Amino acid sequence: MRPMEAGRLHVIAGPMFAGKTEELLRRVHRARLAGLRVEVVGHRLDERSGADRLSSHAGRSLPARMLEHAEELLVLTGQDRPHTVAIDEAQFFGPPIIPVIEALLEAGIQVEVAGLCLTYDGEPFAPLPTLMAQAEEVVKLTAVCTVCGADAAFHVRLIADGATALQPTAAQVGGAESYQARCRSHRRDAAPPGPE
Ligand code: ADP
Ligand code: MG
Repeated sequence: MRPMEAGRLHVIAGPMFAGKTEELLRRVHRARLAGLRVEVVGHRLDERSGADRLSSHAGRSLPARMLEHAEELLVLTGQDRPHTVAIDEAQFFGPPIIPVIEALLEAGIQVEVAGLCLTYDGEPFAPLPTLMAQAEEVVKLTAVCTVCGADAAFHVRLIADGATALQPTAAQVGGAESYQARCRSHRRDAAPPGPE
């Protein structure tokens, strides 16, 4: 008998507004079309669409289990093993998600992970860099720079007067009112003036 094959790790990384959640939802939809059972997971900190849903900035959404700790994933998948686990906003789970994902892969489960690979001050955002290094596939997406329309690999946090905040804080939760996608040339500039 052949030994059970390990799962593959696919990572979808990029800044905010890059379409990471849309790409994750597309993959979930596609796997379900193929008749596969997919467990969709988000983090409780991501409260944009209320409880129990993952949603993209464009408004698409899917029901999801919103967890607080990475270890809850082991309980969830231990009861009834899915073919695939899709995890959004992986950065919110922090480094403890790395061994949990490894355990899922070793149990033969496919893992699709989406998350921010950079903080708003442009630093690597754990655990994404590690997951990207260990993945079988990495898709790196860019958003559109809100200043010039170029490819944006970064995002910045806006503070009250439209300036950009470069001091890190613990969480990055929010939408277009708090964050903007920026290209390399404009990642340190203040927000452009809005319509009068
Ligand atoms: P992510 O999960 O990477 O933050 P989402 O999948 O939630 O991204 O949302 C991507 C959608 O956000 C795009 O399809 C587009 O409709 C919208 N959007 C808003 N602002 C931008 C921007 N600056 N660049 C690209 N997409 C943007
Ligand atoms: Mg997202």
